Amino acid sequence: MSILPITVFGDNILRKKAAPITEINDELISIIRDMFVTMNNANGIGLAANQVGVNRRIFIVDVSPVEGYEKFKPMTLINPKIISKSDELEPYEEGCLSIPELKSEVIRPKGIEISFYDLDMKEHKIEVGDLVARVIQHELDHLNGVLFIDHLDEETQKKIKKHLNKIKNRKLDVAYPITDSSNYIYYK
Ligand code: ZN
Repeated sequence: MSILPITVFGDNILRKKAAPITEINDELISIIRDMFVTMNNANGIGLAANQVGVNRRIFIVDVSPVEGYEKFKPMTLINPKIISKSDELEPYEEGCLSIPELKSEVIRPKGIEISFYDLDMKEHKIEVGDLVARVIQHELDHLNGVLFIDHLDEETQKKIKKHLNKIKNRKLDVAYPITDSSNYIYYK
């Protein structure tokens, strides 16, 4: 198992719509294991495949390090889809391993119903709320080339521009390995 470099703001793959998975092979299983190691090393609670240079519709979630969520098991979601969203919206301060050292409030539906496939390509439908719904919506955005900063208002976008450029130009010290070029692809 290995820690993979995380793609960061400015990396092309983060702006691409990821391709659906049609079969799970050994290589993908090994990548998913690496994704967990990579996420834990960076103290993340969610990680999408394109954040490690894999342009496929997979993400992982592990909210168990967060107080009050210790009982939640790590999840691997393949070809996830949102079936419905609650009318109730909620603000929450989000961060992203691909946008180090930036947090900002994003408003999203409080609860969602989703479908996804597991590692045996068995379909599941579940309803989730609060932090789990939050992470899943954030990660699903990743698979569509969307970053949480895209949800911020114009004024906030202006304020963070300098920071984003620092990330893009690798002028920021990041506590975990990141890619060294914007064209990084790990698995095609
Ligand atoms: Zn993210």
